[in-house]
Amino acid sequence: MDNSKISLGPKGIAPLSGHCMCGAVSFEIDEPLIGGAYCWCTRCQRRTGTAFSTSALTVPGSTRFTGDEDHIRVFEPGDGGWNKCSCKLCGGQTHTFNPENPDVVLIRFGALDQDPVTRPMAHQFVDYAPAWYQVPDDGLPRFPERLDWSLVDFDS
Ligand SMILES: [Zn+2]
Ligand SMILES: [Zn+2]
Repeated sequence: MDNSKISLGPKGIAPLSGHCMCGAVSFEIDEPLIGGAYCWCTRCQRRTGTAFSTSALTVPGSTRFTGDEDHIRVFEPGDGGWNKCSCKLCGGQTHTFNPENPDVVLIRFGALDQDPVTRPMAHQFVDYAPAWYQVPDDGLPRFPERLDWSLVDFDS
């Protein structure tokens, strides 16, 4: 696999909206998603209870929380990892943000109301995929550890 240039894939649509399982946490996104990835890290496995998670980077400042923000539970890993956000009532996972810049938000694909048209462009942390589910042979670039965003072709 040639990881030298990673295509962002189809340009997404906007506006988007989304919510947790019970609806107490909801959001709107004013700009198309920048790009997404499948993550096979063990933190995502623990967080979701399944094999991988799918998240997309949003344009900084484009995500607005439209429900009662008091319902958002923020888990701080404490090791420099991004803060993981879920609903206090239903546990639904909605997003994560950079603790050093809360405007930089990754949204969980599963929380979206629409097909964002944006597609995950790579698999990251594939060395941590569980024995009971294999990384699919879908032709996307694979990274043993974190996706290297410097390889992403933002003009594609
Ligand atoms: Zn909820
Ligand atoms: Zn992960």
